[in-house]
Amino acid sequence: MYAVISDIHSNLEALTAVLADLDALGVRDVRCLGDVVGYGPSPLECVDLVQRRAQVVVRGNHDEALVHGAYGFHLRAKDALDWTRDQLRPGFMSGQAVRRRWDWLTTLPLRHEDGPDVFVHGSPRDPTQEYLMAAEAAYGPSEKFEEVFAAFDRLLFVGHTHHPGVITSDYEGRTPAQLGGALRVDDLAGRKAIVNVGSVGQPRDGDPRACYVLVDDDVVTWRRVPYAADRTVARVRATPRLHPSLGERLLVGT
Ligand code: ZN
Repeated sequence: MYAVISDIHSNLEALTAVLADLDALGVRDVRCLGDVVGYGPSPLECVDLVQRRAQVVVRGNHDEALVHGAYGFHLRAKDALDWTRDQLRPGFMSGQAVRRRWDWLTTLPLRHEDGPDVFVHGSPRDPTQEYLMAAEAAYGPSEKFEEVFAAFDRLLFVGHTHHPGVITSDYEGRTPAQLGGALRVDDLAGRKAIVNVGSVGQPRDGDPRACYVLVDDDVVTWRRVPYAADRTVARVRATPRLHPSLGERLLVGT
């Protein structure tokens, strides 16, 4: 059994609640699909926790933007990323711990493979940037999705959109609710599936609870974990360089 978490976005309260849920379930194997930082108020704590608890971590677009710049980000996301970089980047006087954290976060691999399954932040074609949305797949066969489905053999685990769900290789999109909360590999009957694990620290599907998946015996189960989002909102408000809306959206999950 293993867990796949993604898009923590410097939300310590959400991450702590998810890790407590994993402890209660006895899950040791944790894989993270990136965007450990960005948007939220607790980058250092989240990097340290993910580094300690996750066996596999791949790079997200926000992690990448620490080094390469926040190109294409909207203004509030860019301001948050610039503040995050100031918290994390080693200076002349920085000690080993600061340098080690920065080196780890800025050299994360782009993808991970486990047998027939692939793990990336966004898409196998463009691991950190490309979005795979069910609404786009619903238009039917496209070169983009043909290439994506050709890039893995069974399951592709992604985050990035903050919208949990599945897109199967017959271009059907389903939310966790439409799947009854879980996807059974047996039910795929040979189809491949893009599994979006949702977001721990900034869900955008209208449910403010932290989201991640458990994979056990070829069953993928989405879990929602309530957490003290009001505390995260207070931390955002106490950080002048983070726009207050980055906190407020957490209360409604948008
Ligand atoms: Zn993200």
